[in-house]
Amino acid sequence: MPKLPPMNNNVNHAPHVVLLGAGASIAAYLDWGKKGARLPSMQDLLDVLSLRVVIKDAGYSTTNLNFEAFYDELCSSGANENLKAIIESRVYEFFSSLALPNEPTIYDHLILSLRKKDIIATFNWDPFLVEAYTRNEVVTEKHRPRIAFLHGNVKIGTCYSCNVAGVNGRRCPRCKEVLAPSKLLYPVKHKNYNSDPYIMGEWDTLRRYLNHAYFLTIFGYSAPVTDVEARSLMLGDWSTNPALELAEVEIIDIRSRNDLENTWQDFFIRQHYMISENIYQSYLFTHPRRSCDAFAAATLMCAPWDDNPFPKFKTLRELQEWVAPLIAEEEQYDTKRVAFSGDPIAPNEKIEL
Ligand SMILES: [Zn+2]
Repeated sequence: MPKLPPMNNNVNHAPHVVLLGAGASIAAYLDWGKKGARLPSMQDLLDVLSLRVVIKDAGYSTTNLNFEAFYDELCSSGANENLKAIIESRVYEFFSSLALPNEPTIYDHLILSLRKKDIIATFNWDPFLVEAYTRNEVVTEKHRPRIAFLHGNVKIGTCYSCNVAGVNGRRCPRCKEVLAPSKLLYPVKHKNYNSDPYIMGEWDTLRRYLNHAYFLTIFGYSAPVTDVEARSLMLGDWSTNPALELAEVEIIDIRSRNDLENTWQDFFIRQHYMISENIYQSYLFTHPRRSCDAFAAATLMCAPWDDNPFPKFKTLRELQEWVAPLIAEEEQYDTKRVAFSGDPIAPNEKIEL
């Protein structure tokens, strides 16, 4: 028998794991109306960062050039360290220059849709997740998900002597040295996740969560063939999850259903998966902060809850005030074991911040 996640007082403590790839940031950027620099996918980097000329000048043809494969070859052959360094510094500068607009974005909704027991792990180098994490502190300070950076991030700095990670540019709280920028890892074939202690720690954390997660959402991550190691690491811990028989996978992606089923079938248990093109229609965004609880109520207890989709708000404050009653309910549970109601937020319900 699969191990049942605990479900008392309408509360399911098993984690929801959300995995973000480049498609998540592209969706966020399109959703906020394309203000600011255009967001590249891995393949677009060549043109968005004007790397074509640099690569040509170094003596390579760029006709039909696959950037990932090219960079992979550059790393494994050690053929041109100078060119590799130029590419990396352009990438770092570009991603450092990005910022969220003031309005609520998909990233804000992501941070607000999950609880402390959950995790968002991202392959993205851009600063959006960290920005959303810090600007929603006003409402989520003690109630926000863990975030993990599987390929490093321009907003994260580390102190290797003290084994501390924090916001890039701040000082290490222990030795007071300025944190060093985290390395950015590229999706290459022979990447060694263990070569960097910070990134290894982030992977270990994700794997622990995957091993007892109840819900796995994969948003805009294409699992490129060049990143075989990432996929096999995740699958290893997911497939030995004792609750796997009951767990659910949700894919949010604009690719064809067929394509997505082929990519992710190893992660599916029979028909326990759903596919959505739009994050706002996903289970995660229609059951914010209650995805695992609502899903357990529907599938294990045959008592489905009504959907509670995020309304669209113009300001971040309105969104935070809408979420606040859910967080207040979590505090009531934490301190007095008051059960979750399972009811959607009423139309005028909010807590002023
Ligand atoms: Zn330190």
